[in-house]
Amino acid sequence: MLKLLCITAHPDDEAGAFGGTLLLYADRGVEVSVVCLTAGTAAKNRGTARTDHELAQLRTAEFSASCKFLGVSHCEVLNYPDSRLDRAPFFEVVGELVARIRRLRPHVVLTFGTDGGLTGHPDHAMAGAFATQAFQWAGRPDRYPEQLAQGLAPHRTQKLYYCAADFTLPDRIPTAPMTVTARVEVGRDRFEKKNQAFRLHLTQSPLFDRLRKNLGKMPTHEMFHLAATSQPRDARCETDLLEGVSDG
Ligand SMILES: [Zn+2]
Repeated sequence: MLKLLCITAHPDDEAGAFGGTLLLYADRGVEVSVVCLTAGTAAKNRGTARTDHELAQLRTAEFSASCKFLGVSHCEVLNYPDSRLDRAPFFEVVGELVARIRRLRPHVVLTFGTDGGLTGHPDHAMAGAFATQAFQWAGRPDRYPEQLAQGLAPHRTQKLYYCAADFTLPDRIPTAPMTVTARVEVGRDRFEKKNQAFRLHLTQSPLFDRLRKNLGKMPTHEMFHLAATSQPRDARCETDLLEGVSDG
């Protein structure tokens, strides 16, 4: 069975940034997992939560509901501090992600690029930086060898993708977007479902119209940048993130 792992920063990223693609591959029988680095407690929009702890509980439950709706088999929130991922201990966070990659053994990893995705959020950029190093180091026996002593085996994921776009948002600080190398046609139905998944994040309801407006420019496809592969290759444009992936 082919497996895909998506590494995000906040509950709702899995829907807003990756939702159509996660649905598409789940529909195709791929085992899809999402690991989110924070519980999103720095959010301005807090629903009924009175404390950070309550907000973390609400947002984690919304994340689980959204993942379920998107056909995700495994989802997990790691409780690193929201809006402070740039201060999180690099070796520790990468180690946590290396352990997930060694356990889940994905064929493809999706995450943000160092631009921070469409919104340019620094947490997105850091999620991408941690995930990139974890992609590289999960396959090396000389990295986090204590995990190997505990029974995990090194795992080389075949492809690493960053989320990309061929436009920027005019009301945000300008970013330098990842080059688009893959356009994945998800179809109008899955685009609607992606919106519905985002709307399961009820604490974030003031953002619903904004997401819809931002996504209006890419109604039926999501874009990615192929950042690294386990076998050397020339760049080429793709329409399928599993192109060339072998189930081994
Ligand atoms: Zn986010």
